[in-house]
Amino acid sequence: MISLSAVSRTYTDSAGARATAAICDVDLVVDAGQFVCIVGPSGCGKSTLLELIAGLQKPDSGEVRVSATGQSRPVLMLQEAALFPWLSVTGNVEFGLAVRGVRRAERREAALRQLAAVRLSRFAHAMPHQLSGGMKQRTALARALAIDPPVLLMDEPFASLDAQTRDLMHGELQRIWADTGKTIVFVTHNVREAVCLGDRVLLMSARPGRIVDGIDVDLPRPRSVTDPAVSHLAQIALDHLRDEIEKVEREEFDNGTSGP
Ligand code: ADP
Ligand code: MG
Repeated sequence: MISLSAVSRTYTDSAGARATAAICDVDLVVDAGQFVCIVGPSGCGKSTLLELIAGLQKPDSGEVRVSATGQSRPVLMLQEAALFPWLSVTGNVEFGLAVRGVRRAERREAALRQLAAVRLSRFAHAMPHQLSGGMKQRTALARALAIDPPVLLMDEPFASLDAQTRDLMHGELQRIWADTGKTIVFVTHNVREAVCLGDRVLLMSARPGRIVDGIDVDLPRPRSVTDPAVSHLAQIALDHLRDEIEKVEREEFDNGTSGP
């Protein structure tokens, strides 16, 4: 469904003087219907990676492929819901369909169906300012699902929610994924969240981000971040990540590529 081979992306400032290598030599394959989590420290290039998959950025080298089914491109969901404050919940969910020229009756029906899927039917007529943080993100999820993209890209979508709400969202997202069979690439800096949600968890090193390891998560669903098995596997993943980061640092030091 998604494949990246030897993808690198470096940002340069407007004068072209300073360069920041965001990600380096990333290989990644995501199969249709898979739920993949990518976890790594802040600034390691996770958002860059998702924007590359979304087609919002081009790699400097390497190749990004997303197999196109129909017209639908991947949809990217962010940490902030960014709802239009002057539109109702339904209006927000419908908006993407209106832009795509879907007729009123059809888009209303699709919006109500997705609001039911995220358990927001009672708030169909509410305005964004009346919603809690979790409800805003559920609206954003309904908006993304309404477009029915084969691939859902999620960039730390629950990072600003409190722990209980986040736990609820983890449950909802696993249920929706099981019901819809979407391919999901979910990015987080939280290892437990990654292990809780993913079939497969990919570990990224500090900047420039590389994928240093991957673990398959074969635990029964629905999972919660508080499950002992999830904590246990998260600890193993964290140890791996620490080892890999130290290894990369050692190699760079030995090659004389780090330091002043
Ligand atoms: P993450 O999402 O893992 O926190 P990002 O992909 O946002 O990481 O950023 C990776 C690195 O690239 C960071 O060091 C960040 O400061 C830098 N960066 C991101 N976007 C830009 C940009 N538009 N211009 C210059 N540097 C950027
Ligand atoms: Mg980011």
